[in-house]
Amino acid sequence: MADQGSATEDAMEIVEEGEVESGEVTPSPEKELPFLPGFPSLQEYSKALISQVIAATKASNRLPGEGDDFEYYSSFPGFKTFCDKMGGRANRMISKLLRQQALPCHWPTSEGSDGVDERFDALEEANDAIIERVSLLLDEAAGLTRHQQPMLPNSEVQRGTAEVASWNSKRESVRNAVNSYSFIHAKIVERPQLKFKHQVDNSSFSFIPLLRHKPNAKVPLPEVFQRLKNPTTLSALIDNTKEWMSTNQANFHPYRHELDTLNYMDSQLELRELQNAGSLEDTPLSFVTTLEQLEELKNELMTVPEFAIDLEHHSYRSYTGFVCLMQVSTRCHDYLVDVLELRHHMHILLDPFTNPRIVKVLHGADMDIQWLQRDFGLYIVNMFDTGQASRALGLPRYSLAYLLQYCCGVEANKQFQLADWRIRPLPSEMVKYAREDTHYLLYVYDRMSNELIRRGNKRDNLVRLVLDNSQALCGMPYVKPTVTRDSYLKLYYKHKRHFNSQQLHCLQLIYKWRDDLARAEDESTGYVLPNHMLFQISEILPRDPQGVLACCNPIPTMLRQQVQEVNMQVQKARSTPLTSILPTVSGFSKEDETATPPRTEPPRPDSQCEVRRVRIKIHGPPVARAEPVLTAFKGEPVTVTKEMRDKCEEILLSFPNILSRFVEPQAMTRNQVFAMHSTAPELPPPVGEFPLNSTSLVATPPSAVEGKVKKSNGKKKKLSVREMGREDVESGGMESGGVEAMGGDESPPPKKKKKSTGKREAPEGELTPFQYEGSDYTKFAKQGREVKVFNPHDNSKESKRSSKSKVHQKFSERSQSWKKGEKKK
Ligand code: AMP
Ligand code: ZN
Ligand code: MN
Repeated sequence: MADQGSATEDAMEIVEEGEVESGEVTPSPEKELPFLPGFPSLQEYSKALISQVIAATKASNRLPGEGDDFEYYSSFPGFKTFCDKMGGRANRMISKLLRQQALPCHWPTSEGSDGVDERFDALEEANDAIIERVSLLLDEAAGLTRHQQPMLPNSEVQRGTAEVASWNSKRESVRNAVNSYSFIHAKIVERPQLKFKHQVDNSSFSFIPLLRHKPNAKVPLPEVFQRLKNPTTLSALIDNTKEWMSTNQANFHPYRHELDTLNYMDSQLELRELQNAGSLEDTPLSFVTTLEQLEELKNELMTVPEFAIDLEHHSYRSYTGFVCLMQVSTRCHDYLVDVLELRHHMHILLDPFTNPRIVKVLHGADMDIQWLQRDFGLYIVNMFDTGQASRALGLPRYSLAYLLQYCCGVEANKQFQLADWRIRPLPSEMVKYAREDTHYLLYVYDRMSNELIRRGNKRDNLVRLVLDNSQALCGMPYVKPTVTRDSYLKLYYKHKRHFNSQQLHCLQLIYKWRDDLARAEDESTGYVLPNHMLFQISEILPRDPQGVLACCNPIPTMLRQQVQEVNMQVQKARSTPLTSILPTVSGFSKEDETATPPRTEPPRPDSQCEVRRVRIKIHGPPVARAEPVLTAFKGEPVTVTKEMRDKCEEILLSFPNILSRFVEPQAMTRNQVFAMHSTAPELPPPVGEFPLNSTSLVATPPSAVEGKVKKSNGKKKKLSVREMGREDVESGGMESGGVEAMGGDESPPPKKKKKSTGKREAPEGELTPFQYEGSDYTKFAKQGREVKVFNPHDNSKESKRSSKSKVHQKFSERSQSWKKGEKKK
């Protein structure tokens, strides 16, 4: 178990062979029984389990993906056979597990991509069901749900009750040891929404921009907004702007003109000196919780040339979600802004945020831009999105974790991404996580910006591309998620069920009930009634309220409260005649015409249904890839052994060349055969490595990027990508492992490692990652609040509820279909 590499494999073995341990160990009276053989306690067991799940996830993430390199790798018989074998095994295991757990989902046997889709859906359903079950059992263990008999209470909704959230935490003290986890929990005193000055607007009317003043304006804010300096209620605000919005400005963006006419500063297009971020412990951290502190932050931000921003968001206990925390980092200071406290005042940051002379650095800002508008009326002008830069540089992964690893040598721990960010005060683990999201970002920005400039042409095409794409993101106006009369059909097609007209009608009615209630109570639809329960009720069409509740395990609070209403809907559906004509997707309902189309996938056509095309807005600008893809950061030199060469040759020869059909094999020498394959693609990096630079197997050590930027009298001459590539080839560097090197004619035979000439300057040094490993992160942990460790034996009231919310939260994050396919949503 300690060996992570084989641990996952072992676990698979056990399940597949059906040797599920039954725990039938003869109890010895004097010795305490272990939780399971090999595991003294539940905690030991969950520790081992979580670390194995993580190891398995990591391993699977390293596999080449579909549409990525998978097809290419699959052309190697060895790879394909192995994958088929493992895939078959995984399939059988999952199928067995589902049967063993008596889960009500169908595990498809069909092959091909359709089969894969179906299996993913089935897995999602199974996971939902399992997590619900776990949640129920934890509640039961905590004594929260003693009466499992379905109850039919009155329909009053309890609000503002204390809640507790828990999540898994990898403890700092055991860094580098076998992954260790503990449960920590904290109390959420009340729903943060109750403190919001303006109630959230869950109506189906289009979003109305919240800003009332427009700093850094080139064109003034339309008068209709300025008249509303201090609207008392949101409805007053909506009433005042409704006409204006619906007549001409559904797509209105207050900073459209400023973004369209933005001129980048010279400093954004020039190579910059790297400024190390410093360790967390050497950097001051400020919690911003009052208006005065926010004003101070704003004043500070007005004085810097650039700063980094990130947001943390909560979506389970809210209809559209809300931002909980804003992280800001300057070159020498980290800030955590409690936006739950300051939500109503956040707009004062509009000044630095829209100042075109201050660069705002974000990573993967698509959602952040939307959330800033929705919650605070904040906009950004002049952004550099390091996620866009990752794409333009053609990096193997676009995640922040990847950039932190490769630029800063920091192993980011992303497990708090889905934590419950409503918790106050923030536990030290979450503080550290949140800081790391912006702390290194300006350094990453320096590195990426330099790389884009080096690889770009004379017109700085790459860095401009990234900046333009970033401004395009800034210019996307927030649109509310839209639910229409037919939205339930999209869900239906996605779940690939086959309902008769009564079942489908039931689905429609309960879907509507769920959506209305979620809006009214400001809860997510997943919290009101998870999808798999919605489908279960619609499929079974129970005869009475008890039957409705019996479809759900555990019973969601809101369903319990409104079971009579739901039952009425079910009976209504049951009373409709069975017909063979199923409803069609016929466009949007009248009241939704003002709103923009939903972000969900269009429904899949079904033979029984006529499906009309719906307009789908693609979020984020199209992203062009840099070409050729060269190296971004320094890689480890590869020593080429004889075996490696032989293997290369063998693989190369295994590619059938169509021309070889016309040549007698015996008539060719080995070299001629080899030459025929010279157009075969460059060999990929070994599976599991995916180094940033496309290191070919005939690699020589990295050469400096000399000559890419020639400085004379302080002026630089930038070369085109192609010129750069040629220079690299000429200097025998391996950085040209991209197209130029593979091009055959132009690529020289591999050369031996060239010694650095000594003349070389800055660039090579710049590419050396800063070492953060030595930093002591625990210092800040001490400053934070004391973190409680989950103790299953603790019977105190606080810990009793501890297990619930996080389970629910994770569950919701998974089951909310609107999040699928998007980065964060
Ligand atoms: P990040 O930009 O990584 O800091 O993420 C910001 C917020 O996006 C988090 O607080 C989450 O609420 C949300 N988020 C990020 N990744 C995911 C995901 N994979 N699934 C659901 N929500 C996510
Ligand atoms: Zn983010
Ligand atoms: Mn973040």
